[in-house]
Amino acid sequence: MTILAIATIGHPELRIRATEVEVDELKSVEMQIFIDDLVETMRHANGAGLAATQVLRHQRICAVEVNNNPRYPYKPQVPLTILVNPVLTPLNDEMFENNEGCLSVPGFRGNVWRYTSIHVEALDRHGNKIDEIIRGMTACTYQHEVDHLDGLLFMDKVKDTSTFASWDSFDKYQHHDFVIRVKELVEKFGS
Ligand code: ZN
Repeated sequence: MTILAIATIGHPELRIRATEVEVDELKSVEMQIFIDDLVETMRHANGAGLAATQVLRHQRICAVEVNNNPRYPYKPQVPLTILVNPVLTPLNDEMFENNEGCLSVPGFRGNVWRYTSIHVEALDRHGNKIDEIIRGMTACTYQHEVDHLDGLLFMDKVKDTSTFASWDSFDKYQHHDFVIRVKELVEKFGS
């Protein structure tokens, strides 16, 4: 498997809207190898997710996985999930002010409002339909990844720019209160 290069903020291609994937192409050997590489790259960088856009392949595919993640120790576990052509629809207006970082935005974090309950329609890597409700912190992670496929970065949605912080400052000044809020969210939704 190949570790792919992750583009960082300022790369113009991070702003491209990715196109839908045809099922025949999805099932091709070339595409399956790409998905393996995407997963390997996410794990190598300790990401909680990675979108194809971030490795400059402009097709609507992203990976999410949280397995004792050292970058995000407060995130509940999420088994490896590949979303192809994902469509996320909020179930209601309830939102959570999440604190996010991004492999394409090295060094900085910020607060982004995310829906707490979403209906997820997508294909898995084999072209099977995914139709499920995802809630809580995991819903936030899904929204971050799908934003990449639309050419959006988390800071586009930061309303309170005073929340921007280096990872060191986050640990020092924001981590304590944020973890308490995450705990409440995860207790409420179980994920
Ligand atoms: Zn990201």
